[in-house]
Amino acid sequence: MNAEEVLKHYFGYDSFRTGQREMIDAILAGRDGLAIMPTGSGKSLCYQVPALMLPGITLVISPLISLMQDQVQALNDAGIHAGYINSSLTERQIETVYRRASRGQYKILYVAPERLLTEGFLFFAVHAQISLVTVDEAHCISQWGQDFRPSYLKIVDFIRALPVRPVIAAFTATATEEVRKDILCVLDLQDPQEVVTGFDRENLYFRVEPIRRKDDFVRSYINKHSGESGIIYCATRKNVEELHQRLFVRGVPVTRYHAGLDPAERKKNQEDFIYDRATVMVATNAFGMGIDKSNVRYVIHYNMPQSMENYYQEAGRAGRDGEPSQCILLFSAHDIMINKYLLEHKDFTDIPEEDAALIRERDARRLQVMEGYCRTTDCLRNYILRYFGEKVSGPCDHCGNCDREYTETDMTAEAKWVINCVTETRGRYGLTVVLGTLLGANRARLKELGTMSYRSFGALKDHSEEELRQLISQMLLDGYLWQTEDRYSLLRIGDISSLKAGGQVLVRRYREKEPERVSRKRRKRSTDALTSAGYGLFERLRQLRLEVARKESIPPYIVFSDKTLIDMAVKAPADRNGMLEVSGVGAVKFDKYGEIFLREIADFRKEHPDAVVSIED
Ligand code: ADP
Ligand code: MG
Ligand code: ZN
Repeated sequence: MNAEEVLKHYFGYDSFRTGQREMIDAILAGRDGLAIMPTGSGKSLCYQVPALMLPGITLVISPLISLMQDQVQALNDAGIHAGYINSSLTERQIETVYRRASRGQYKILYVAPERLLTEGFLFFAVHAQISLVTVDEAHCISQWGQDFRPSYLKIVDFIRALPVRPVIAAFTATATEEVRKDILCVLDLQDPQEVVTGFDRENLYFRVEPIRRKDDFVRSYINKHSGESGIIYCATRKNVEELHQRLFVRGVPVTRYHAGLDPAERKKNQEDFIYDRATVMVATNAFGMGIDKSNVRYVIHYNMPQSMENYYQEAGRAGRDGEPSQCILLFSAHDIMINKYLLEHKDFTDIPEEDAALIRERDARRLQVMEGYCRTTDCLRNYILRYFGEKVSGPCDHCGNCDREYTETDMTAEAKWVINCVTETRGRYGLTVVLGTLLGANRARLKELGTMSYRSFGALKDHSEEELRQLISQMLLDGYLWQTEDRYSLLRIGDISSLKAGGQVLVRRYREKEPERVSRKRRKRSTDALTSAGYGLFERLRQLRLEVARKESIPPYIVFSDKTLIDMAVKAPADRNGMLEVSGVGAVKFDKYGEIFLREIADFRKEHPDAVVSIED
């Protein structure tokens, strides 16, 4: 079989995506490779296809146990012999894997980096015919990255210990130049084929919401998107616990994940999410690496992350299947304070002072860039792409900022009155009192507190309450004011030095553009091609997939992806050949599941003989 035939037979796809072909050709020609491609772009196929065509075995070094299990399950389900070795197996199970591998029963073997230089593994490796060593998540080799794994440095020693040097191919989604150089250099890649595809994830819709009532936003979003799978990232364990609890008591099918939970519970919660038993995951950034769940429809950041690298990686867990998905960042000025605090208290023991100083500087710079993303009124996608060193042309017409019209009003004079008023309260009162005072409201409460005798009383009475609220939000975002964390949320003066030095307070307002002014570029979901009857069929196929997955104890998306099911509902095939036309249905998958899905479609047809399932383009 040639590469196309392998792609069709095992994976059910008709053509390669950008970058895949070059990588596969290089590997098959015996050349090393480095592919830097975004999440969801299909890096796995770049080594899985050659693995099936090369003699002997392909080793895949992968940092996370869950990632290995997921991939091996998916491969086995596609009829490909694959196994893994990591610490989740008992010694006896590991022996079995070695025995099978030595007999040539696997084409692909996943292994944790820690395992490479152990006696047992080396013994197996020097006697096996290893054609290809794949380093997945290769950025873990870089000491600059957030995910540095010292054991990745062992890979080189391991390769040197082999009697014949195999082809080495490295894969990552991390695009920075530092990381790229580190990978090339540390892995000692020889004349590698480098493939760097564009970083844009067209199916992701980016949006920043500068709001304080984050819970309300999250709740209403989840309501509107019930049944869809989503992740909500919080900055701290405490945030995770609190938000999880609040959603849980409202009956949201939610689970949680952070490093403070014991391993058994972490595992269970992760599986609940992967198997679609819980649709919403609330987690710290400890969650996600190694999650290949393809039908995550949204990723909400409850707090601003520490860097664009982190943000793009975490947000990028949405929409791996290529279907439109949303990445929403909820931003409040408080997030900046949390992040500064976290950075100030970062542990630098055992790190030489010079290095620590460098890291501190780098962290501060990254935080600034992240903050810039939250504040920009320009195209968000372009902001991201530019940061990762890509050339951009014009606004994307498909992000929160492109869909909004921003206006800025200079309210510096009014801001000074707000400062005066908060000063006069001596930080003892919250927003309501400050607003009432500035508006000169005739309220018993203000009399009681004595704010009616303030100089600022009624100073802004020509403004509406809404205008003043917006002004104060802006001042909170700009850091001129801050709010205490207790339940009284008292308003306090922040850093006003720049205001004193002649700085301006520009209040930014936006309106969502009128629907007719929003670009036609808005992406359609594949389900848009379905009529309501077609959607009914899709729902039935989805239900069938869930039953199949339960019976086989594998995650639903490994049986068929959402994208595949939608395509199946659109084409509604009547026989084997028709079914093989569906994207994601290969011969092996057909043998496993083809008939039962065909039967479901036939039943549907019988019950609805005149139903039109898809809209002709
Ligand atoms: P990455 O490792 O780059 O994040 P994956 O290898 O997990 O991405 O692939 C993401 C999704 O894209 C998977 O569901 C995979 O089956 C699908 N995919 C990969 N290559 C193709 C292709 N050529 N055609 C259609 N779908 C593909
Ligand atoms: Mg991957
Ligand atoms: Zn845009």
